[in-house]
Amino acid sequence: MPTNITASLLYDLVQCPKRVELDLFGKDTDRDEVSPFVAMLWQRGTLYEHDVMKGGGLEALDLSQMDSIDQERLTLEAMRRGEPLIYSGRISANDLLGVPDLLRREGTGYVPMDIKSGRGEEGGSDDEDGKPKLHYAVQLALYVDVLERLGMSAGRRGLILDSRGHEVTYDLAAARGSRKAESLWDEYQAILATARSIADRTFVPKGALASSCKLCHWYTACTKTLRAEDDLTLIPVLGRAIRDAMEPTLPTVAALAACNPDALITNGKTPFKGVGEDRLRTFHARAILLKDPNAKPYLKAPVSLPVSEVEYFFDIEVDPLRDFTYLHGIVERRGGDTANERFISFFTDDETPKAERDAFAGAVAHLTGVPTATIWYYSKYERTLYRKLQVRYPDVCSAEAIEALFDPARAVDLYNDVVTKATEWPTNDQSIKTLAKYLGFSWRDTNPSGAASIEWFDQWVRTRDPAVRARILDYNEDDCKATRVLLDGIRSLGS
Ligand code: SF4
Repeated sequence: MPTNITASLLYDLVQCPKRVELDLFGKDTDRDEVSPFVAMLWQRGTLYEHDVMKGGGLEALDLSQMDSIDQERLTLEAMRRGEPLIYSGRISANDLLGVPDLLRREGTGYVPMDIKSGRGEEGGSDDEDGKPKLHYAVQLALYVDVLERLGMSAGRRGLILDSRGHEVTYDLAAARGSRKAESLWDEYQAILATARSIADRTFVPKGALASSCKLCHWYTACTKTLRAEDDLTLIPVLGRAIRDAMEPTLPTVAALAACNPDALITNGKTPFKGVGEDRLRTFHARAILLKDPNAKPYLKAPVSLPVSEVEYFFDIEVDPLRDFTYLHGIVERRGGDTANERFISFFTDDETPKAERDAFAGAVAHLTGVPTATIWYYSKYERTLYRKLQVRYPDVCSAEAIEALFDPARAVDLYNDVVTKATEWPTNDQSIKTLAKYLGFSWRDTNPSGAASIEWFDQWVRTRDPAVRARILDYNEDDCKATRVLLDGIRSLGS
């Protein structure tokens, strides 16, 4: 029986084509357990949808409890008689199948609408619009495609009802931008063609190692294959698109390590789309490191690391679905005395704006308490979030105070300012987890990750279990300590 192309299959395909292929044809015995974080996302999505339908005052024909055959028959009947709003209708045409959360009558046709527990667009801010999310757009496009085939479409557009209660319109036919003539509908057609070729097995996509793989239920099996194939995506920051461009010439990490980059560079250019001279040399150096069993990390450029009596190693925890910052953690070291360093935390004991504001205020007061202290953090995220929190709680401090706090003279983004610019490591990525573990540090928790912390926070919200609270704090403290371990490790590279 031919495989149905569903909206959720296209959603997954935008994230990773290999996952779609393994979901369709992989061995069940190769599947990992679904991560608690992913399970929490599913659960929260479902709960949010129910909340919207129950509390949003939406009067809709509810088909959510029907079996699939009745659900589809009743949806068609409801559309033919012009039902204004249909919840959980099921529609299909040829190999396409979709269950849009809502179908709303507009004119003589229907517009599909999905309820999402995240923001309807990516980028943007509380005040500014962002851009459509491709993984949402392909789902809406599939529904529209089915409606067109059924002669019941109100036009090439769909709606996302998002976590802020905003109704975000996805104009599928419009050009994506002034420099991009392609529309979301064009992208949908290309993605649909890929989905069909995976489903009929004329195309077998390759995996590509990325940070998101850690949440995938094929992680163990897929990364084993990538290692066995010596795939180029084992090199930090070398992703799927670049791998695909380089692979015909340099199919493996070993081949890249053995090549002479000079022979591939002409007038500062390489034959690989998206790869300039500097990047090719960086990837080549990383390939050599990965292939050398005795490789050690090294400095590739001089670094100037400030020395101060007081050092703050700083990390925050944020629940992006709640748009809520629940923990600011600081490991404070004085005089380089690691044995006597201490952990200071500002945790929100409830989920109110007041709790978020007070934790932010406490952390800002501590971080500004010693103006000569150096603040060490890992990635731009902390600074971005502090700017956002300042706008949300302007009584805590001014925008200028946040800029002063993150002035490069006193605050160092160890990832962007030091690790990526000046160091190389014999590892598959440059995350704080990977590098600190490489240097011998171990987290107390058996499953340390930012995603896990968000899932623990969700548990804390539901249970107020002190053991869960302690787990969140321990994890954050270890993240702060890992930043200190990495700083000390980088200092030792220069000696
Ligand atoms: S582990 Fe990564 S590459 Fe492999 S299927 Fe999952 S998301 Fe795709």
